[in-house]
Amino acid sequence: QAGLYFVATPIGTARDITLRALDILASADVIAAEDTRSMKRLLEIHGVPLGDRPVLSYHDHSGEKARAKLMAHIADGRSVAYASEAGTPLIADPGYHLSRAAAEEGYLVTSAPGPSAIITALSLAGLPTDAFFFAGFLPNTRKARMTSIEAVADVPGTLVFYESPKRVAAMLADAADVLGGQRQAVMARELTKKFEELRRGTLDELAQGAAEVPPKGEIVVLVEKAKAKVASPEEIEAALRGALETQSV
Ligand code: SAM
Repeated sequence: QAGLYFVATPIGTARDITLRALDILASADVIAAEDTRSMKRLLEIHGVPLGDRPVLSYHDHSGEKARAKLMAHIADGRSVAYASEAGTPLIADPGYHLSRAAAEEGYLVTSAPGPSAIITALSLAGLPTDAFFFAGFLPNTRKARMTSIEAVADVPGTLVFYESPKRVAAMLADAADVLGGQRQAVMARELTKKFEELRRGTLDELAQGAAEVPPKGEIVVLVEKAKAKVASPEEIEAALRGALETQSV
């Protein structure tokens, strides 16, 4: 059926792909990918013949023209499968503008769901998962990073960040400064891969560990939600006084 099919691909281990995702990749008229080389490799690993189908390069910065080309394929009645380099498209990955464009045209937009580092990390971290907030990648500069962490400090759920190994020590130190070094946190590294590792501890401990032994590979940082604030006796008194004053006016 004509439309846009978002296909989730592995985040480390090539066999972490659904049978339906492979079916869609096998039958789509057009395959588009953030990284055409890794797409071709994935198809090869799973024995999906490409035949004479094109593998088109697309990321959201490819611009209007590349997007229009994919839209034209759908308008002509073709199915277009799109995958980002790893994991679920649109999750810290391209696909958003494509999704919007297809939806605006009223085309079928559907997916073959699969791995994402957010969900994989949450399922292993041992932090509450009833509510969580995905904060994506933080900015590069310290000032902007601190401001971004501050903005999510009181979110009532587990915080999930993507981070690069180069910056993770600095990010953990900044998070400890802004959120308090005693918050529980987890650094999930190289998920589903040979050197998968979960470091658990307080933000202070993880920051110190990352400074001493710089982690390598792909990383998700999770931080427990803020504890409910307990008002001090002074704050309670001030609130009561305020309430009484407004009543006597
Ligand atoms: N679309 C992907 C997803 O659904 O998770 C995320 C793509 S984003 C460009 C790449 C970032 O995701 C990495 O820098 C890292 O923070 C995280 N990530 C991806 N694969 C990972 C893995 N195997 N282990 C830990 N983190 C991973």
